[in-house]
Amino acid sequence: MQKVMVTSIILGSFPAAAQEHSHHEAHVHGHSTVNIAVEKQKLHVELLSPGADIVGFEHQAHSLEEKQKLSDTIHRLKQFETVFLLPDDAQCSLDHAHIEIPEKKKSDANHASEERSHSSIHAHYGFDCAKPEKLNAIEFSIFEHFSNVRELEVQYVNEHGSTLFDANPKDPAINLK
Ligand SMILES: [Zn+2]
Repeated sequence: MQKVMVTSIILGSFPAAAQEHSHHEAHVHGHSTVNIAVEKQKLHVELLSPGADIVGFEHQAHSLEEKQKLSDTIHRLKQFETVFLLPDDAQCSLDHAHIEIPEKKKSDANHASEERSHSSIHAHYGFDCAKPEKLNAIEFSIFEHFSNVRELEVQYVNEHGSTLFDANPKDPAINLK
């Protein structure tokens, strides 16, 4: 596990890198970004993934099969356990889960170029944790459920600052102690 200390302290908001991410920005297939923020008893987890890795395609869903695949994927992502697992001791309960798959408008003048652009999946989960001090580790089950995800860059932010981790199928957990 690689652990790199980052000096800046960002609280109450996700790191700038995540906010700068645009759906039109080219992403790297196989590579996803996770932002985790803990503030008092609130835990936020945000996942940004290439559509190709999660849904299997990045164009607008045309066929019934593609539309079905898209809605199945949204349903699976809403079960946060398919993405990550939290320690039971932290007693976290899911407050909300939002899954965003950017829809491309057919009426767009530049529709043809939009079709070729990369689209990303954005999932956001909010938890209330009775014992956030027990968040000792987070395991990424996403590698088991979405085998095209090969690498995660994880930024973890709490009141002490921000830490970067890499996770991959061989090393799927981050140690927060
Ligand atoms: Zn792509």
